[in-house]
Amino acid sequence: MLEIVTFGSEILNKKAEPVAEIGSEVRTLAEGMFDAMDRGRGVGLAAPQVGSSLKVFVTNIEGDQKRVFINPEIVLTSQEQVEYEEGCLSLPRLYLDVKRPESVRIQAWNERGRPFTIEAGGFLARVMLHEYDHLEGLLFIDRLPPAKREKALAQYRKLSKG
Ligand code: ZN
Repeated sequence: MLEIVTFGSEILNKKAEPVAEIGSEVRTLAEGMFDAMDRGRGVGLAAPQVGSSLKVFVTNIEGDQKRVFINPEIVLTSQEQVEYEEGCLSLPRLYLDVKRPESVRIQAWNERGRPFTIEAGGFLARVMLHEYDHLEGLLFIDRLPPAKREKALAQYRKLSKG
């Protein structure tokens, strides 16, 4: 069973490495990630969050199929930015509004080694952008202006003590 890595762990600040071969190893990783995400009632999870520095993330949002993204690349983002509340299994119980592009086009490979391109707006775009950031070593609080980020961290420290 894969455990979720929380804030303060160095792997969350590290850029993930590309997956060299899409085989049973990465499929097992993705399965474990879905399992860890379901246990945490999350809608997306990136490999560094389970201690694996590989370019893999998964999503499972209501009304959409389960998706595995291997070696994803952002092809395009919209000029339009929107603010929406986010949380993260690596920063439990912290929820904050974050500004991001409204829509995104991502190119990736699925767990069977097939390339695909997905263009989405709204909640799916939000989740994909959040998870993609994890592969760049960025957390959602890193998308906040510095003063707000400090405030968020203080709030998180309080939450994780209680
Ligand atoms: Zn997250």
